Amino acid sequence: MANFTIDIVSLSPQVFKPIIENGVIKNAFKKGIVELNTYNPRDYANDQYRKVDDEPYGGGAGMVLKPEPYFQAFESIPLRAKKKVLLMSPQGSVLKQSDLIRWSNQEEQLILICGQYEGYDERIRTICDEEVSIGDFVLTGGEIPAMIVINGVIRLLPGTLGEPLSLLEESHSDLLLEHPQYTRPSEFRGMKVPEILRSGDHKAIKSWRKEKSIERTRNRRDDLYKSWLTENNGNKEN
Ligand code: SAM
Repeated sequence: MANFTIDIVSLSPQVFKPIIENGVIKNAFKKGIVELNTYNPRDYANDQYRKVDDEPYGGGAGMVLKPEPYFQAFESIPLRAKKKVLLMSPQGSVLKQSDLIRWSNQEEQLILICGQYEGYDERIRTICDEEVSIGDFVLTGGEIPAMIVINGVIRLLPGTLGEPLSLLEESHSDLLLEHPQYTRPSEFRGMKVPEILRSGDHKAIKSWRKEKSIERTRNRRDDLYKSWLTENNGNKEN
């Protein structure tokens, strides 16, 4: 068994194949860091038409996902001791890097429930520990939100990335956005790499990066900047 298991309940399980066939995520599967299984509620529908949706009680537009196939798909998943069941929903808490860190650190299994159509019969919500939104907008299904969670969690699992130190310095690992980055050439179409980054003075580079991080956060994300100021009591040296 892999260190971490991801189980997905989805009516379109085929869409998950490409995400496990590329880049560092593919390597995490190859190395046995993570395994992924899919469960299609349609396979658990108990009528001859394998119906997974029905009209809403009380009337209204769209079709609602029936509880039985979702419960049965969920109940067929082997459970590990440390698990979280996440329901993909535009009504959930908006996903943050701190959620991905928490799940990758504390759990050994994530079960992701993906909706479609008009949404879930309310009783399906009782299966879940947390409801996760990827932003204040509405997509046709929970598969893309689930892929975002999967990608974000797998890259944090020990052994996935070659250089885990980079995880500590990137945007959203604390309240500040990452500083600007440069690579060769030192001049490109008249745009020069700041002299200080080529100076070899590590202390000066560190403080330049911190300064740029603060400046970038203040200019782009006033909300994060204010939280950072509060956390640091307004002391930029921290
Ligand atoms: N009628 C539902 C509502 O107002 O909450 C929206 C249903 S949406 C068309 C169908 C499914 O897509 C949802 O059940 C959910 O799984 C997924 N979905 C859509 N937008 C999402 C978002 N921003 N975050 C997470 N999941 C989303």
